Amino acid sequence: MILEPAPPLWRFVPSTLDAGQLPQLEPLFADLQARPLVTVAELERWMLDESELLARIGAEQARRYVAMTCHTDDEAKKQAYLLMEQQVMPGVKVLADALDKRFLGAPALQQLDADRYGVVIRRRRTQSEIFRAANTELQRQEAELQTQHQAILGGITVEFDGRAHTLQQMAPYYESQDRALRERAFRAALAVRRTHWPELEDIYDRLLALRQAMAHNAGFAIYTPFRFLELGRFDYGAAECLEFHRAVERCVVPAVAELDRERARKLGLQALRPWDLEVDADGRPPHRPFATQQELEDICRRVFAAVDPRFQAEFDVLRRERLLDLMSRKGKAPGGYQYQLEDVRLPFIFANGVGVHHDVQTLLHEGGHAFHSLLCRHHDLLAFRDYPIEMAETASMSMELLGLEQLGAAYTPDDAAAARKKHLEGILRILTWIASIDAFQHQIYGHAGQSRDQRRAAWLEIRRRFAPQLDWSGLEDALAMQWIGQTHLFNHAFYYVEYGIAQIAALQVWANYRRDRGSAIARYRAALALGGSRPLPELFAAAGVRFDLSESMLRGLVADVMAQVRAH
Ligand SMILES: [Zn+2]
Repeated sequence: MILEPAPPLWRFVPSTLDAGQLPQLEPLFADLQARPLVTVAELERWMLDESELLARIGAEQARRYVAMTCHTDDEAKKQAYLLMEQQVMPGVKVLADALDKRFLGAPALQQLDADRYGVVIRRRRTQSEIFRAANTELQRQEAELQTQHQAILGGITVEFDGRAHTLQQMAPYYESQDRALRERAFRAALAVRRTHWPELEDIYDRLLALRQAMAHNAGFAIYTPFRFLELGRFDYGAAECLEFHRAVERCVVPAVAELDRERARKLGLQALRPWDLEVDADGRPPHRPFATQQELEDICRRVFAAVDPRFQAEFDVLRRERLLDLMSRKGKAPGGYQYQLEDVRLPFIFANGVGVHHDVQTLLHEGGHAFHSLLCRHHDLLAFRDYPIEMAETASMSMELLGLEQLGAAYTPDDAAAARKKHLEGILRILTWIASIDAFQHQIYGHAGQSRDQRRAAWLEIRRRFAPQLDWSGLEDALAMQWIGQTHLFNHAFYYVEYGIAQIAALQVWANYRRDRGSAIARYRAALALGGSRPLPELFAAAGVRFDLSESMLRGLVADVMAQVRAH
């Protein structure tokens, strides 16, 4: 792999192109549109040139997004981002759709290597079939509502303990051994969130209406199958998602109930309340492993090195190229992400560290995404660097688990063991949450036009199914509105089951690693290097795991996790 970020050679797109200016992009699209595509060589050259153009546009979007999220209080950066999304991208989408049609109608398409390009052809054919120019305006409106949603969340502060906190800065209180403090913190945050429910629910209703309209425009009666195609879910459908929900209900829910009973017993409680889930049940004080970005980087660097020295070398590229912005500060958007800058083919990592172990876990996760991006650098075709989300999250969640096995490189044995146990328990708990959010979306989009009360009732039923043992008495309204805190429902419809699919794969990578480290790492890296060039089940197979959402698969994985939790 080429680690040195050599400047890409632009064969088609001028290096001076300003990809934020539609008039500069149009002649390049027109050039591609006009070329003869009679021979395979012509078509392959065309695909590479198109990749150059789309990579430059993608990189422009990425840089503006990064700039905005790093400085949400900078109006100019926000405007630059919005300009790109609202004025440039709608035009680009129409031009890109015309290229899809040009590609699909190319005389040379029949002679193209169907095995090598199968995933590309399948993707472009579907994209083209569901594309409607009228939907670009609806997508613009959707993005506007999503920006409003982010602005509301970003503006929320909780007065607590004599100072203002972001919602994220409240997290350390939930780890406190002082139960009364945890409860006060939970209730303080809830009181503030509650005041925003009406406006958030308004936004959500408008998003649902827009999404329903987009599906109708494309000839679908309901949004679900349209969105599955839009997300490129070719290798599984709604039936597999429902199978996954049942498997979680039967295998994971009982295991979490068992862990919760044990947690309640250790904490001396009859039942767990919502503020009893993050505290260390063995009475250990909260672990605060670092204070600065430098220290956070050093911890993860040591862990990556222990997993495999190549990961350390790759992480050092990100440090050297200043592609890390990891600490929470005022004026920064919430959350964490990895974003590939497609022009230089290097990843950028954004996070909001506050000094807790969870931040280390986040950097291991985003590190996994970054290694994935770096391992795909050699693909000149943009579509091959664009790996499926399910595989992306497999890369990141696997790296969390591999890192967990090597935390001793940076933590005391006690701290490492406690973090490992907490993470493994968290995996089971999050699987019940993933199933809840996914089941909720299948319910909502399957019943367009239901009332807000019906929606709440549906959520309550789902939570009775997946988390029956938590005690929400006196907080029934908060339980009924719990879903509204899940930002994916607003920003990425139906994007959530991917985490469940990926976790199932990551648990298999982790098991492989405990059996044979060398071979597990070799397969992990080989699978990542395939990028998006193969269908999902093949990518999984290359990583040494099975694409299987069934009850029997989950039963074995849950037993393994429970055995590992018990072993410490
Ligand atoms: Zn991720």
